[in-house]
Amino acid sequence: MDVFEQERHATPPLVGHEWAKKRLLSGLASGRVSHATLIVGPPNIGKATLARFFAQALTCGETPVPCGVCRSCRRIISGNHPDVRVLDAPDETLKIDQVRDLLRELSLSPHEGTWRVVVLCDFERARTEAANALLKTLEAPPAHVVLILTATEADILLPTLVSRCQVLSLRPLAVTEVQQALISHWGADEMQANLLAHVSSGRLGWAVRALQDKAVLACRDECLDALTALSGKGRVDRLAYASNLSRNPKLARETLDFWMSWWHDVLLLTADAQVVLTNIDRMDSLRQHTNQVTLHESQRVVAQLRHIISSLDQNVNLRLAMEVLLLSLPRTGIVSQAS
Ligand SMILES: [Zn+2]
Repeated sequence: MDVFEQERHATPPLVGHEWAKKRLLSGLASGRVSHATLIVGPPNIGKATLARFFAQALTCGETPVPCGVCRSCRRIISGNHPDVRVLDAPDETLKIDQVRDLLRELSLSPHEGTWRVVVLCDFERARTEAANALLKTLEAPPAHVVLILTATEADILLPTLVSRCQVLSLRPLAVTEVQQALISHWGADEMQANLLAHVSSGRLGWAVRALQDKAVLACRDECLDALTALSGKGRVDRLAYASNLSRNPKLARETLDFWMSWWHDVLLLTADAQVVLTNIDRMDSLRQHTNQVTLHESQRVVAQLRHIISSLDQNVNLRLAMEVLLLSLPRTGIVSQAS
């Protein structure tokens, strides 16, 4: 592998989540490695990065912290390690055949080291039969097997599956932590880092994506502009928007997350809470919005958004949920403030 290729496959730094790292490494150091770990947390918070870090720790020669640069560590990042499989295809539902193939592979001895590791990302998207097949393996796992699942919440998985896992719940990072990481590891300037750290709500993966791809922030601007515009519109426009958006569940999810961040800011402002806000580049619009709604209204909308977002992974009728939400948004007149 030449230098350029090495860099391409260099391990991205795992920022924050120190307690979770410590828990995983101390299990390894004391010879009590859990055969199944479930990492939960909001999208883009670092679940898959932590899972890869643990896979590196299990296979790297260096202890207790994996070096991140040896052949084994780099092959995990590039997806070429013969004993480590990471399934993180976005938008793909894990099917029973894939799980069966994986389980067959897992039953074989490792090629190189002590462990065979499988990381299954966004396991809430797995079909029930796939989850059930996995459950059987978790009842009596081969000694060399380590399974790592990630999901947004533990509550939406089979309880019998969760009860067999060591569960690690990741929390959003502090704004300053994201800001510092963007500057020191990803070359952001101070202003970019400040805005993205706030807007990301502590989800470093999102902040890095937004730094590297202008379309991410543009999408956020569109979502917030639409919210502002819709707040001044009537029933027909709101229903048309709900109908359109519900045809694209992925965009709907992102839109709802951005709207949640907005309404959460409105709630904090109406409650006069002296805390850090998310949408710091749109303070004028936020204040205008806040002046036109009551504390009770903002509490109601935040609760409604939270409910819809948490039910997205449970086959909710998206169109109906969007219609109900949009029809109940308080009518306001706000001047859009895209910057
Ligand atoms: Zn290594």
